[in-house]
Amino acid sequence: MDLDILQVFQREITCAICLNYLIDPVTIGCGHSFCRPCLYLSWEGSQNSSHCPECREPSQQRKFKTNIVLKNLVSIARKASLSQFLSSEEEICRIHKEKKKMFCEVDRSLLCLLCSNSQEHRAHRHCPIEGAAEDQRDKLEKQMRSLWDKIQENNRNLSEEGISHFIALRDYVLLVRKMIRTEYCELHPVLYKEEEQHLENLRKEGRDLLQQLKRSVAKMHQKRKQLKEMYKEVMDMCHKPEEELLQDIGDLLMRSETVQLHIPQPVRPELSVRSITGLMDRYSRYRVEIYFHNEVSNHHIRLFDDLRNFTFRSHNQDQSLNPEKSNYFAAWGDQAFTTGKYYWELDVDDSWDWALGVSRDYPICSLGTMLVSGDMFLLACVRQDNQCTLWTTSPVIPQFIEKPLGRVGVYLDLQSGSVSFVNVDKSSLIWKYRTGSLSFPVRPFFMTGHK
Ligand SMILES: [Zn+2]
Ligand SMILES: [Zn+2]
Ligand SMILES: [Zn+2]
Ligand SMILES: [Zn+2]
Repeated sequence: MDLDILQVFQREITCAICLNYLIDPVTIGCGHSFCRPCLYLSWEGSQNSSHCPECREPSQQRKFKTNIVLKNLVSIARKASLSQFLSSEEEICRIHKEKKKMFCEVDRSLLCLLCSNSQEHRAHRHCPIEGAAEDQRDKLEKQMRSLWDKIQENNRNLSEEGISHFIALRDYVLLVRKMIRTEYCELHPVLYKEEEQHLENLRKEGRDLLQQLKRSVAKMHQKRKQLKEMYKEVMDMCHKPEEELLQDIGDLLMRSETVQLHIPQPVRPELSVRSITGLMDRYSRYRVEIYFHNEVSNHHIRLFDDLRNFTFRSHNQDQSLNPEKSNYFAAWGDQAFTTGKYYWELDVDDSWDWALGVSRDYPICSLGTMLVSGDMFLLACVRQDNQCTLWTTSPVIPQFIEKPLGRVGVYLDLQSGSVSFVNVDKSSLIWKYRTGSLSFPVRPFFMTGHK
């Protein structure tokens, strides 16, 4: 090849980011090609809009196939420089004056054929240099792909655990603490001792869970650092010329595999259900029958999807209700309440998503925006990724208590302006809206979705 053509050829198989021969080359929308790892690293952190590092053209695509033609061309170029290296004066075997062709896997050295048959090397495993280098490089590239997948998995776990769970649980614990202080000390010196104790238990348990989450987030951060360092180390190794790669690789493949073990998994925090003696008896005194009538159905209801999107970013949108296929409705009780105490129960067992509680008598807002209105005092259960999350709505906050099965009780106390939710089976309090929350006439509310 004449020199000009050779230079052009080398330029075409050089990555514009690292200025080395391309490794695992990918070609993006504008036609420019880069090493896959170089591109991934340069795009890391930019969630939606990515630009070509060379021509700045925006690129939406995130998944790429290896450009086989480029990969083969690089392989030819590498072989050529390997052969050039082995033909050089310094590399000729000093003893036998022969070109080195074999690689000793034990000594990690390059040998001529005669040396590889010598007494010293007889018991070793040897293979042709060219094939050995290609083989190791393939293995390294495979490692890089799985390392990258693990980095992504760890990042997802970290955002779920580190951001969603942690912040939500912290807000929850703060709210509970505030309630204990105001409900049971300042406003009403003596309300219900068991309720106060219940909240106190939730607060303590929540605080311990927060510590656990903190530790697990720290582990994830550490894993992220290890994976990232390993990724860069493998990438650097891949960029080395064949002869150096063979001699320097050492135990890198093994270390890369080890670092990918034990990716810390997110723990979904859950607070224990504690039954309160006499709770059901106390509420039963105020039992009423509520007759619900249908108000709206299907596509007007966004509450569940809004909740799904609220804090926990769902990775699997298939789990949400599809307005075309699913059947869901909202219903209000036939009677509005202004004063007094009332208790009723509803069965939620066979619902996919459900919400119940009270709403302002004829809410001013549409159902689509009710989450932000502050007119709804609900306990909602939304399903996502085959898990259920409980929520209360004013303010919107996830509840970390186990989902109730069967019947849920609603205790409305307009004297103190509060509404409580009870797990009937377990005789335990799920949540109580703060005293003074309700200062207007309310109506029982019920909403369900079936897939
Ligand atoms: Zn590169
Ligand atoms: Zn470009
Ligand atoms: Zn020799
Ligand atoms: Zn040997």
